Amino acid sequence: MIPLLVNPSLLVIMGLTVGLLWIAIRQHRPHLALIAAGFMLFSVGVAAQILRYPAELRLNAVVSAVFYSTGASAFALGVVRRSSAKGGGPALLGLTALIIAGIAWYAYVDRNLISRVYVLNFGLALIFLYAAWRIRHNMRGSFADRLLFWAVLCTGLHFFPRTLYTLGSISREMTPDEFGSTAFWQLSLYVMGVLSAIMGVATIIVTGLDVVASIRDERDTDPLTGVYNRRALDRILKKVRSLDMPVSILVCDIDHFKRVNDTYGHHGGDIVLQHFVRQLTALLRPRTFLARLGGEEFVIVMPGISLPEAVREAERIRASHLVMGDETPVPGITVRCSIGVALLRPGEDPWQAVRRADDMLYQAKQNGRNCVVSERPVRNSGSSQVSEPA
Ligand code: GH3
Ligand code: MG
Ligand code: MG
Repeated sequence: MIPLLVNPSLLVIMGLTVGLLWIAIRQHRPHLALIAAGFMLFSVGVAAQILRYPAELRLNAVVSAVFYSTGASAFALGVVRRSSAKGGGPALLGLTALIIAGIAWYAYVDRNLISRVYVLNFGLALIFLYAAWRIRHNMRGSFADRLLFWAVLCTGLHFFPRTLYTLGSISREMTPDEFGSTAFWQLSLYVMGVLSAIMGVATIIVTGLDVVASIRDERDTDPLTGVYNRRALDRILKKVRSLDMPVSILVCDIDHFKRVNDTYGHHGGDIVLQHFVRQLTALLRPRTFLARLGGEEFVIVMPGISLPEAVREAERIRASHLVMGDETPVPGITVRCSIGVALLRPGEDPWQAVRRADDMLYQAKQNGRNCVVSERPVRNSGSSQVSEPA
């Protein structure tokens, strides 16, 4: 009996570890509580079957199925929630109810152990496969995403060959002793031990990687506006300098922002900044990077965009005249900006290009604001004004 308790003990250890992780880093990670609960519930199911408690055979089948299926569902819901996928609860609840109803039917109405094995194992398989399907986009995600996806998919798939391979060792009615010595049960215990260890370790690795990723995100994000900060911009600039394509750089600064601050206070200015960034982000093409350089000055890095194209993009942004929403202290007021544009030159320090774009921005301010000024292509030095103040 004692060696048999290795399995539920392993599940409890995994549950406790994930649960402690959840308590330690609770913020934004409710999925860990679900995964921890999943391990714990599943361990109760295994223990109920191994310890034969409740002793009555059919009741034991139903009770252990309740814990197996709710455990698997809690785990699956946790996996779905980690990928910030919504829903999933009703589908998993439905699968859980079907498993329990099926087990009860084949325990009390049509007594058939083989059918119970089918219902439980294929039902659990569906729960894991459902979770894998819901997080299928993880296949193209980070290492943590892919690790979790494949661990869940393989766990779901393994039920089919294992069950079918050993089903011959089971007959319609068996005593618990007979069942305990079948190849099916022996292999189940072995595989369950290995899989729970794999899933537990995978969850712990994924959680560790998630924490590292969120620390990196926090480090690279401007807390006020949620866009990249100067530190992240430095990393982006280092990356784009090695690209074999034109890279345009825009420096955008809100016009007369001090007036907003002077009239509505610093907090009012903050809200306007947030609103401005939200609208600006929506205007940008995919694969461009927006960073807040400081104050109300932003850098937009556009890989693969030539200087004339970048000027058109800058003009589009300038001319969009971002109107502040009702949640700002200046609803209906248009926030205007000036933009300087430069093109990264081969081999140059990208910050040099940012400085040139900033010089162009200075000229835009000199020219009366709310306009775009671009440097000339590298052969002709100097600048050219592109748009007139509105
Ligand atoms: P210009 O058209 O020449 O750009 O004029 P401006 O008033 O926008 O520019 P200036 O640089 O004179 O003032 C920018 C103001 O932005 C001054 C500063 O108090 C404010 N500011 C800088 N950072 C923040 C911030 O995080 N929140 C708020 N609310 N204001 C900020
Ligand atoms: Mg300004
Ligand atoms: Mg400024």
